[in-house]
Amino acid sequence: MTEDVAAYDGPLPAVTNLNRAYWDALREHRLVAPRCDHCGHHWLPPGPWCPECWSPSFTWTELSGRGTITSWVRFHQRYFRRGPFEVPYAVTEVTLAEGPRLYARPIEGAEPWVGQAVEICYEDASADLTLARVRPVDVA
Ligand SMILES: [Zn+2]
Repeated sequence: MTEDVAAYDGPLPAVTNLNRAYWDALREHRLVAPRCDHCGHHWLPPGPWCPECWSPSFTWTELSGRGTITSWVRFHQRYFRRGPFEVPYAVTEVTLAEGPRLYARPIEGAEPWVGQAVEICYEDASADLTLARVRPVDVA
């Protein structure tokens, strides 16, 4: 991203012991999710137990970052007093190859559509915060 990292003044995530590994990995430009040690299910957002089998035992696992847009919306109203982006802006729901769903904005200039093959990329919004973004991939 070419955006000025010092310019970010948008909403910040509530980082807890439960999701810290996710945000730390994004800062390293990696995408991770909890993977159930019992049944192998991946899930996002991070939670204390597997939503498939309720096992509390999981391991943070790196994901491919590839997926498909399964829904998206364009916001025409600003819901935060401050923010790093102008309305209107889009937010996509991406179903990742490993199964979890992730919500992220497409990169500037990308027009999302349901069924579009995408990959996660990373925006260093500040020295401490990296956001997941979505960009189309060419599927030849
Ligand atoms: Zn499980």
